[in-house]
Amino acid sequence: MTERFDVIVVGGGPSGNAAAYTAAKAGLKVLQIERGESPGSKNVQGAILYSDALEKIIPDFRDDAPLERHLIEQRMWVLDDNSYVGSTYRSEAFNTPPYNRYTIIRAQFDRWFSKKVQDAGALVICETTVTDLHMDEQTVVGVQTDRLGGSIYADLVILADGVNSLLAKKAGFHPELRPKDVALAVKEIHFLPETTIESRFNLQPDEGVAIEMAGTITQGMVGTGFLYTNKESLTLGVGCLLSDLRTRGLSPHSLIENMKAHPAIRPLIDGGEMKEYSAHLIPEGGYNAIPTLLGNGWMMVGDAAMFVNSVHREGSNLAMTSGRLAAETAAELRAEGKAFTAANLARYRTKLDESFVMKDLKKYRDMPEVFEKNTHFFTQYPELINRAAHTMLLVDGVDKKSKEREIRKHFVAKRSRIGLLGDVVKLWRAFQ
Ligand SMILES: Cc1cc2nc3c(=O)[nH]c(=O)nc-3n(C[C@H](O)[C@H](O)[C@H](O)COP(=O)(O)OP(=O)(O)OC[C@H]3O[C@@H](n4cnc5c(N)ncnc54)[C@H](O)[C@@H]3O)c2cc1C
Repeated sequence: MTERFDVIVVGGGPSGNAAAYTAAKAGLKVLQIERGESPGSKNVQGAILYSDALEKIIPDFRDDAPLERHLIEQRMWVLDDNSYVGSTYRSEAFNTPPYNRYTIIRAQFDRWFSKKVQDAGALVICETTVTDLHMDEQTVVGVQTDRLGGSIYADLVILADGVNSLLAKKAGFHPELRPKDVALAVKEIHFLPETTIESRFNLQPDEGVAIEMAGTITQGMVGTGFLYTNKESLTLGVGCLLSDLRTRGLSPHSLIENMKAHPAIRPLIDGGEMKEYSAHLIPEGGYNAIPTLLGNGWMMVGDAAMFVNSVHREGSNLAMTSGRLAAETAAELRAEGKAFTAANLARYRTKLDESFVMKDLKKYRDMPEVFEKNTHFFTQYPELINRAAHTMLLVDGVDKKSKEREIRKHFVAKRSRIGLLGDVVKLWRAFQ
């Protein structure tokens, strides 16, 4: 290809599609390159779509986007091996349009988004892998692809190639990912009739539920699980830090098998036909692990840039927002006749700092370290909380004051008074 572009976007996930769409809509000449046979074919997500981020890019997305169910209920479960203590928030406010969160099937959603990118005027090529960046001294000037004669040149390259950004690593923009900064998650989709899902989860057509889980399902490792309702299927998954999985020699496959056998989860998926299994990395290093985000002729967005808020399980919205902000920066600079130098592209960093992306990541900057060093939050506390609930709810002739004393005794025996106080301080620090 001898044509020259204003912008090349590498990757056809949410961050790449948001960047390519926004840049093309602003009149830039855009090429997007995706290695999968179609956008989304290689992508894995739970998946909850957060409307706000997409609305800011395609305000009328609800007209034709492939959406499964809008979420009206969120459950949070803390599990031990046989039980769970849970909280539920269900609201008619979330059942009133415009809906705030939806479940989606990523392969369908990414294909829809890619069509919008093409309609906006970008050229999208699939089944093509970018193997290297072309540099002119310290400036990125284009990409090398695995196609014959595969050099393509542009004024700006946006790296939206996902968590394991090999290109950034190769170019020295990105250090090797540390196993403690990434989780390995596995996900399954189980198919059930629509009416079964609705009666099992107390839903009307199009309404959905999300269940987030923590506790012994991750067998003492830092991680969480989830179960979401789609139209005719349930998505469930579990993920743990790669460093923990390696140390323990456990496979994520064994975790999901264990999770499905839990007495609270088994009846929810009973009779379902499992049709999809996938595994993927999630960048969970947070604010302190964010790499350099830009340089002469390039910017990095989405998972490649470590933009995942693992506390709230948000990733695709940070990906879309960062993609949009990168493209808006490019469009503004072009309109002002300014070059894509690092000094000028620093505006992207300013936009990120002013957005929820950096503010939220900064808020939880200590969280990864707190959890990594205190795995008892994933072992002892779920057991203590479930045991406390059992003790209080069991009607056995023992008076309630004695039960409270017994619960306190268990907490102190497991964690000590100083330990309990320390845990409160650590959590307070992590959530600041
Ligand atoms: C199990 C799981 C559950 C999740 N659940 C949720 C959820 O419910 N809600 C949520 O918001 N987020 C969730 N996330 C996170 C979310 O999936 C990511 O944050 C989001 O997909 C990041 O988008 P991205 O475009 O940056 O990267 P990706 O979606 O990974 O896209 C990167 C794209 O780049 C392509 N690519 C890579 N290298 C090259 C190359 N060299 N040349 C060409 N193309 C290339 C890939 O094929 C891919 O299509 C979940 C993640 C996992 C793994």
